[in-house]
Amino acid sequence: MPARPAARRTTRPARPAPELSFGDLWTFDPAPETADPKLRQRYDLFIDGKFSAPVSGTYFPSINPANEKTLAQIALAASTDVDLAFAAATRAFPAWSRLHGSERGKYLYRIARLLQDRAREFAVAETLDGGKPIKESRDFDVPMAAAHFFYHAGWADKLEYAFPGARAWKPHGVVGQVIPWNFPLLMLAWKLAPALATGNTVVLKPAETTSITALKLAEILLEADLPPGVVNFVTGAGEVGAAVVNHPAAAKIAFTGSTEVGKKIMRASAGSGKKLTLELGGKAANIVFEDAPIDQAVEGVVNGIFFNQGHVCCAGSRLLVQEGVAEVVLAKLKNRIRVLRVGDPIDKNTDIGAINSREQLDKIRRLVNIGVKDGAELYQPPCKLPEKGFYFRPTILSGVQQSHRVAREEIFGPVLSILTFRTVEEAIEKANNTAYGLSAGVWTDKGSRILKMSTELKAGVVWANTYNRFDPASPFGGYKESGFGREGGRHGLADYVQLH
Ligand code: NAP
Ligand code: MG
Repeated sequence: MPARPAARRTTRPARPAPELSFGDLWTFDPAPETADPKLRQRYDLFIDGKFSAPVSGTYFPSINPANEKTLAQIALAASTDVDLAFAAATRAFPAWSRLHGSERGKYLYRIARLLQDRAREFAVAETLDGGKPIKESRDFDVPMAAAHFFYHAGWADKLEYAFPGARAWKPHGVVGQVIPWNFPLLMLAWKLAPALATGNTVVLKPAETTSITALKLAEILLEADLPPGVVNFVTGAGEVGAAVVNHPAAAKIAFTGSTEVGKKIMRASAGSGKKLTLELGGKAANIVFEDAPIDQAVEGVVNGIFFNQGHVCCAGSRLLVQEGVAEVVLAKLKNRIRVLRVGDPIDKNTDIGAINSREQLDKIRRLVNIGVKDGAELYQPPCKLPEKGFYFRPTILSGVQQSHRVAREEIFGPVLSILTFRTVEEAIEKANNTAYGLSAGVWTDKGSRILKMSTELKAGVVWANTYNRFDPASPFGGYKESGFGREGGRHGLADYVQLH
């Protein structure tokens, strides 16, 4: 065969740079904060593939925590509505679970792609409803949510490879899911994608303050032609969550939220035969050793606690710093948080947005005051806060002792508690001295120390020389009072099936 001629290089004439006026720039590549979030004035329940008014006809407002203005009215479900949702999910289960995995996968791929198509709209809606900076919704929440649907779409027809050694697997049936307000769309994706990939049907309750992106996702489920009843959303506050988890038709419960509510659910479901997974609170230690690359560590500590206003279950809320570098790390941290931009979450330059609710703001204030009374030293940069809305300055509490409440309790806000240590053993002992065990961070130049720490730390995730890294393929979940079960990866799938 004659050798193929080498590809000829063509020299194209350089294209003239397009002349863009400011107006063109917006239409050519709209800034995310200018995208229309396409909110409805009123959102009904999503049951059996339809939006339907709640039986009671009652709605509650969802506000924008950045300015306290009402964004939309959300349906308040009563227990009759929850019954209707479970009835729909029960009817949908036989056909959905018998569908070939590749067909279920197609729906998941469709959902992922539709979410990508509407990414900017979802990012704006998420930021308006929850208060997180638009750059986080845009670069983290929405793309990660789509990534979870893509990842699980891939598993749907390969489940026999997910559970080597098992003779067969079966979905549980109808899964009742309850999620918190800190990552509304992402937690929804963490819950829906594995449940659907494995052939379960779902009744899910979003958190009261952040239901909008779930209901917008219902629009996508309709567009994707997902069979009616496979996914149902019931909205409202804690009582609706309790009605979901206590429902007799729920074969499995998946809950993400506080340890306090997790314990209630565990008590209520004891003896019911329901499978249960709990993703609960945390009080992670972010540990900086003397040999760490200090500037990189300081960035990691800032990201670890101030990401999403510190409303993060795995936030590095306890900084453990080795005595030899404690002073320099504290000085650098103070310098760094002086330049964090606190304010309107929809501004793409904002680093710290609004606190999700007045209730959460009050809780943060209360705990910080307790920290100071207990003897911690407070530092807050002198930044100006908007007059309306719920805001809290980035805060450092130094000189914290292990007995202080701010070292033990989850604050769930932009507040870093700093403790010191001398030896590796002391760092391990202090890091593990908590009722929680969700995550931890280690900053050091020594590989052997990273291995030792990741073995000794009782935490589901240990990050080394980085923090808050996520991947749908990596299982996430806690030790101790941070819960049980895993989300993500092959291990996350296992919680949605019965193995034979
Ligand atoms: P939460 O108060 O426990 O609420 C979580 C969800 O449960 C909400 O939808 C809530 O409804 C609902 N709920 C309240 N009472 C209930 C009950 N008795 N039965 C069933 N459901 C009930 O927690 P949150 O304040 O929303 O979220 C913050 C907590 O979540 C933090 O502790 C955080 O660490 C944890 N979290 C953990 C993870 C993880 O993966 N481990 C991830 C994110 C967050 P309403 O809010 O509508 O009242
Ligand atoms: Mg809201």
